[in-house]
Amino acid sequence: MQVAVIGTGYVGLVSGACLADLGHTVVCVDVDAGKIEALERGIIPIYEPGLEELVSRNDEAGRLRFTTDLSAAVADAELVLIAVGTPARRSDGHADLTYVRSAVRAIASAVARPTIVVVKSTVPVGTGDDLEQIAAAINPQAGITFVSNPEFLREGSAIKDFMFPDRIIVGVEDEAARARMAELYAPLVSGGARIIFTSRRTAELTKYAANAFLALKISFINEIADLCEHVGGNVKDVAHGIGLDSRIGLQFLNAGPGFGGSCFPKDIQALVKTGHDYGSPLRLIETTITVNEQRKRAMARKILRACGNSVWGKRIAVLGLTFKPDTDDMREAPSITIVQTLVDNGAVVRGYDPVGMEQAKEVLPPIEYAGDPYEAVEGADAVVLVTEWNEFRTLDLDRIRQAMRGRAFIDLRNVFDQSVLEAAGFSYHGVGIAKRRAGPVIVEAAA
Ligand code: NAD
Repeated sequence: MQVAVIGTGYVGLVSGACLADLGHTVVCVDVDAGKIEALERGIIPIYEPGLEELVSRNDEAGRLRFTTDLSAAVADAELVLIAVGTPARRSDGHADLTYVRSAVRAIASAVARPTIVVVKSTVPVGTGDDLEQIAAAINPQAGITFVSNPEFLREGSAIKDFMFPDRIIVGVEDEAARARMAELYAPLVSGGARIIFTSRRTAELTKYAANAFLALKISFINEIADLCEHVGGNVKDVAHGIGLDSRIGLQFLNAGPGFGGSCFPKDIQALVKTGHDYGSPLRLIETTITVNEQRKRAMARKILRACGNSVWGKRIAVLGLTFKPDTDDMREAPSITIVQTLVDNGAVVRGYDPVGMEQAKEVLPPIEYAGDPYEAVEGADAVVLVTEWNEFRTLDLDRIRQAMRGRAFIDLRNVFDQSVLEAAGFSYHGVGIAKRRAGPVIVEAAA
């Protein structure tokens, strides 16, 4: 099929390259001329494992090209995918649909025949209906049909997630569009992927419900981690113990510094707004937002405590800055709150991240940066592991310890066992791992 993808960011570029690899002919469009020019020269603007090779293979095969010319790209396309950003609106936190609407106006002005437009961007329930009206007002003759096909890929494993999805959700109100969507994904479905057709509104809501549930799961285990520290438990064992229950599942049960990234924070905020708009409040999700914000600050306080309640003038090494490993994305990364709090409290922070340092420099307060973890910890009073990049799992702990001035190791991702760090001479501070068994707190009921 001839496919045009509007928006060549994480989702658009990965989807475009994967669809080309499945045999479709894809043109990726972006308004960012610099990005398109770089892609034409084989330079991938984001860090995503395997993407460079995938793009170059399909480029050479003539199935993938890049352009800023939206009109020409959509004129020949059988399917037009929209994958532009939907950030949080500044005024009220709801999804900002400016880019989506602008793409739809441009598509509607450019097409001369019936066209199927597939919204991959995460958009609030009812957006497909609004877009249909916008397109019909601009070009009533063209007969533009809107489909919701939310994307569930994760940065860092985006290609695998696209090629081997847990499910493909397609919200469609029209039989012809349904048949075209089945054709688009036929190579994945024949390989075993499940495709679920729903109404368009259901598909739009499914994406938000998925992200909200995962965010809730993270906040849940973070609160259990706090309780573990008070009652003398180990959150890793609790997570394993509950996660092996197939009704619960092991994923997203790693206690840590809270969730961040380009999706969860903005999406759950938008879902809460939708709930308010429809008079159907989502109290669990509202609480999740609060719990997660407090979480990041609580982790900063944990570091302060580990440093004797003051970091004034102390050198702190921060390992891992991106919101999760295998991405260079710094959007809403917990490291932002943590580093800012340390700097505000007078610490001298030296950060290191395997791929996200340039992006980090744009959002963190001025700090020192190191070329590797060993340089980062040189003379440090404490080391804080914020993002669990694989390269940190094989750190030479003796070398780290010797390079440091102090011995506090604050492992906010529970990468290391307490016994391993203590054997290497560190004073250990994990998340949700009690040092010793505490007695219960007895609260007497008031008379
Ligand atoms: P992104 O910011 O990385 O990329 C968006 C791209 O769209 C940018 O390159 C921008 O220049 C381009 N753009 C904006 N307006 C345009 C227009 N009118 N025409 C052409 N190009 C235009 O965004 P992203 O992370 O890929 O996210 C895209 C959507 O997918 C969002 O709704 C997001 O919530 C959703 N999503 C993202 C992820 C993820 O992991 N990043 C996962 C699932 C869903």
